[in-house]
Amino acid sequence: EISRNQMATVFSSMQDGVIAFDSQKNVITQNRRLSEMFPDLKIALAGFDAVFEQLLTEKPESASEFEYEGKNYLLNAKRIEMREGGTGVLFVVSDITAVKKVEEEQNRFISSVSHELKTPLTTLIGYTDLLERRGFDDKALAEKAISTMKNEGNRLLRLVNDLLNINKYHSYDFDLIFTDIDPDALLVDVCSEMNVASGELGISVMYDSRPLPQIKGDYDRLKQSLINVIENAIKYSKPGDAVRVNAIPDDEFLEITIRDYGEGIPEDKKEKIFETFYRVEEDRSRLSIKGGFGLGLSIVKNIIERHNGTVSVESFEGEGTLMVIRLPLPKDNSKAERVPEDISGEVEGDE
Ligand code: ADP
Repeated sequence: EISRNQMATVFSSMQDGVIAFDSQKNVITQNRRLSEMFPDLKIALAGFDAVFEQLLTEKPESASEFEYEGKNYLLNAKRIEMREGGTGVLFVVSDITAVKKVEEEQNRFISSVSHELKTPLTTLIGYTDLLERRGFDDKALAEKAISTMKNEGNRLLRLVNDLLNINKYHSYDFDLIFTDIDPDALLVDVCSEMNVASGELGISVMYDSRPLPQIKGDYDRLKQSLINVIENAIKYSKPGDAVRVNAIPDDEFLEITIRDYGEGIPEDKKEKIFETFYRVEEDRSRLSIKGGFGLGLSIVKNIIERHNGTVSVESFEGEGTLMVIRLPLPKDNSKAERVPEDISGEVEGDE
């Protein structure tokens, strides 16, 4: 009795749906999971008459995949010999929707990587061929070849670095070294670095340094996230524009905003930009000078989420973009540290 009860418990708590039939297709037993998967069992299993017949007459087991109401299932079917004599059929149905999604993502990832690697390599080989055939006599051509090869080489290096990062940050156990961070110092550090590059484009990254409550986080990873977001803001701005970085603490979070006045993101693309390899440019006519691989924001999302924070976007096409990163403030110091911040704000104002 005990072992029967144990079996019943195991059977009913399985993650897979299980159903057994006798040779006349009468249901002998089924578990709860199967009823949850297919409230209307008759309709769901209507297409399996052929599998059923095959099992009873030909091969004793089979596996097949099917779709039902937008989900993917794997059906493992097996002929069984009944204890009381006769033959039956056992169906074990697993929900493989998540596995399918990962498979699709992997395929998409591999084909995107191959494509991204192929383009600069083809250009590099094309120009080396050209130099080999024509030598360096045509100085203008040689210069063009070398500068293109250098750009494409750099592009490849960026891609490989992004790929290494994505690999690192997509595994759930990537190491974060948490320390106390002064977010103001971090923002000053990042913005001054970014200003060096953006200055050449006539774009200034503006941040008003002010005391902020400390946060706990991985300095290098947070810096990388901010760089990715600010780089985007610069990339999609027009020459002469400003990129404004701001940080405001509330009771629970430090909200860092990065505002640009560039081309913005269409409403229906806003959620997608955090996906691996997604680029709006592929839909817009793709401008290769912007040259990203659609990896930056997916790295940012992973890092920020590992800090229990969130990253979101507000944007109007043609008017610019506001990226919002929210990082949790340690409970004990969020209030305590905000008092001096307000006072020093006043002091600064008086000066
Ligand atoms: P990429 O390296 O291609 O920039 P990201 O993951 O960083 O990839 O960004 C994904 C896409 O989101 C970009 O290709 C771009 O189309 C869009 N995007 C990101 N930030 C901005 C921004 N500030 N303004 C306009 N579009 C943006």
